[in-house]
Amino acid sequence: MLSLRGVSVRYGDTVAVDEVSLDLAAGQVLAVLGPSGCGKSTLLRAVAGLEPLSGGSISVDDADLAGVPTHKRGFALMFQDGQLFAHLTVARNVAYALRLRRTPSARLAARVRELLELVGLSGYDDRLPGTLSGGERQRVALARALAVEPRLILLDEPLSALDATLRERLAADLREILHAAGTTALLVTHDHDEAFALADRLAVMRDGRVVQSGEIDEVWREPVDEETALFLGYARVVRGEAASEVLDAAGLPAAPAVALRRSALVADGAARGIRARVESARVTPEQVRLVVHADGIGRLDAVAPLGSRVSPGDEVALRVDVTRLAVLPITPGA
Ligand code: ADP
Repeated sequence: MLSLRGVSVRYGDTVAVDEVSLDLAAGQVLAVLGPSGCGKSTLLRAVAGLEPLSGGSISVDDADLAGVPTHKRGFALMFQDGQLFAHLTVARNVAYALRLRRTPSARLAARVRELLELVGLSGYDDRLPGTLSGGERQRVALARALAVEPRLILLDEPLSALDATLRERLAADLREILHAAGTTALLVTHDHDEAFALADRLAVMRDGRVVQSGEIDEVWREPVDEETALFLGYARVVRGEAASEVLDAAGLPAAPAVALRRSALVADGAARGIRARVESARVTPEQVRLVVHADGIGRLDAVAPLGSRVSPGDEVALRVDVTRLAVLPITPGA
């Protein structure tokens, strides 16, 4: 549906977006994930028509968008802080674009009711934004963005202004709402949890370029390089002999480097496994988090089941959970 081909955006000498090509099918949610300053907001703005391209093309259903102004693209934008009109009630915020389009009042009232129900805010019609929680405000912003049935919704870190608990709850809801409405969405974020919670597909961006893209679980399982792995939330990368030791314990063939999630190594009383000495143990609600030192490998993160009595100085055997590691391809020149 949306297609980017070699899209570049420059600010003077800075190349903020560097020959990015991406495809997004109708009804899908694509997250562009990258660190601050990698160019993702610029990319989103370019798709919205708010930033001129210095190269490449953007098209929707094979129609080139060059020369199509923002308001004629049929896209909706939603930012971090929702940006509601503070003096308008929830219903009026949601109805804003519909009023601009002179939607008949019966139709408008019905659509507002439908949208508030979709975002779980039925009955909030007369509230002012100032009386709502952050999560509720983001829901109103979403309802407002969806009001005119945009063919594409552009989301710029829609959850990052919220606290952790709220973020997790709203992420699940947001995903459901987008799917229920059949909306095609392009999301940019620096937060891998936000990307994983919301998207079907992922594009990892670095220094203006897309370094990897694909289905979420595919990118997750096979990061293209060390930096990408760490950015996706892998805790540590081990190389050389150490990598071979870990892979051997996992029953996998040797490789030059392997990325490990914090819970890839499990101390659950197994008789065999990587021998290591516990350096520190910290209890969390789900498990005991360990930092261990293994001979010939070095310092590693590991976990133990809740209730296990492991203390610094103990010897443990670590089982490798193969679903929580990624073998990294050889990087040219590395
Ligand atoms: P991100 O959203 O990933 O944090 P941005 O797209 O905002 O990154 O910025 C990418 C690069 O372009 C950065 O180096 C930033 O400083 C630069 N940049 C962004 N907006 C402008 C602008 N209006 N003028 C000049 N440089 C900009």
